[in-house]
Amino acid sequence: MTHAYFNDPLEHRDPLIFNALENEKKRQQSQIELIASENSVSQASLEAIGSLITNKTVEGYPGKRFHGGADFADIVEQAAIDRAKALFGCEYANVQPHSGTQANQAVFFSLLQPGDVVLSLDLAAGGHLSHGAKPNQSGRWFTIVSYGVDRETGRIDYDNVAKLALEHRPKLIISGGSSYPREIDFVRMREIANTVNATYLVDMAHFAGLVAAGVHPTPVPHADIVTCTTTKTLRGSRGGLILTNREDLFKKLQPAVFPGVQGSAHLATIAGKAVCLGEALTDEFKAYGANVKANARLLAEVLQARGVRIVSGGTDTHVVLVDVSSINLTGQAAQDALSTINITSNKNPIPFDSARPSEWKGLRLGSSAGTTRGFGAKAFETIGHLIADIFAAQAADEATRTAVIEKSQAIVTRLCADFPIYA
Ligand SMILES: *Cc1c(COP(=O)(O)O)cnc(C)c1O
Repeated sequence: MTHAYFNDPLEHRDPLIFNALENEKKRQQSQIELIASENSVSQASLEAIGSLITNKTVEGYPGKRFHGGADFADIVEQAAIDRAKALFGCEYANVQPHSGTQANQAVFFSLLQPGDVVLSLDLAAGGHLSHGAKPNQSGRWFTIVSYGVDRETGRIDYDNVAKLALEHRPKLIISGGSSYPREIDFVRMREIANTVNATYLVDMAHFAGLVAAGVHPTPVPHADIVTCTTTKTLRGSRGGLILTNREDLFKKLQPAVFPGVQGSAHLATIAGKAVCLGEALTDEFKAYGANVKANARLLAEVLQARGVRIVSGGTDTHVVLVDVSSINLTGQAAQDALSTINITSNKNPIPFDSARPSEWKGLRLGSSAGTTRGFGAKAFETIGHLIADIFAAQAADEATRTAVIEKSQAIVTRLCADFPIYA
């Protein structure tokens, strides 16, 4: 009995889950992943995330735990903290948030009382659920004022942010989002926060990897607090980080994470964070970051040249937000069309879009997972044409469409075979 418990492989013990996981692995190997929030962790990260430190319970922080036997847990968490500080050039880091949403929840919990005013990017303009969306706790418990983007440029309307700040006197101002493809003017946002004595939070979940690679401006010197996920462009385990240079705020953030909004630390995930943060300190990662940006720009250019409108006219990051209404598709139809040729993406609102997901005009694409896989300029150019071809085929007769699908599937299969992931 005991022997089986400790030694029986998953394949024997739970075939349903084993098969689902094997099929998921095959899916990842055989599809081109363009979901902007996804990536592939390294084999080293995977080992850490799946390690038996998952058995260990710790509450508190390294050196100040509530449970015994925490020596190795402390080594793991301290390494993650030290690497986060070195990578992002900040004084303090909390590596325990179970996700990016929990990191933001802890920031809210540390600074705000229910009903306090928060100024954040509108969801349709690219904001994130955890910045005050109605169904999220942040939207339920706080008074959310949203800023948006300029209709013409697709870029944040900073004059409007300044005006809204003076009008509503927010306690917290947030930058960052999940589908905003442009660099944010952290200096201007800092100035606006200063005019009303607001705390300035930058949630760099999406572009943290680009900041780490040195190919995107860093918010760390400008923000009071920076949060991010360790997934997405940072390509590590699923979790969050909180960074700050302010000791006074850190003293509030530590108890806000634990015991404020979380209990024990997820040590296997934290081990995974330590590994990905270590990897992000290497030259290999810098090259990856530069390629992620170059590949996204190329993808946007190819699509534009094929008559597809890109929101804001391009990208400064890994995100390419496509306005598929420019080719008479909905986001859902575009996502479905790409899935017929084994390219994975997601429908997304674009600025000033309908509130109904079925009517969204946007498709969000991202270059990070493909770049991790090894796709370079040539592959991304091919991918851009595959996308434009399948979009165009939606208006064609069925025989033409079938021919495009078959030809495209063969190209995707070859690309995936040429750039394998995991042994
Ligand atoms: C992805 C994301 C998060 C957090 O995501 P989780 O799924 O909770 O880890 C937070 N903020 C932004 C801007 C994001 O894009």
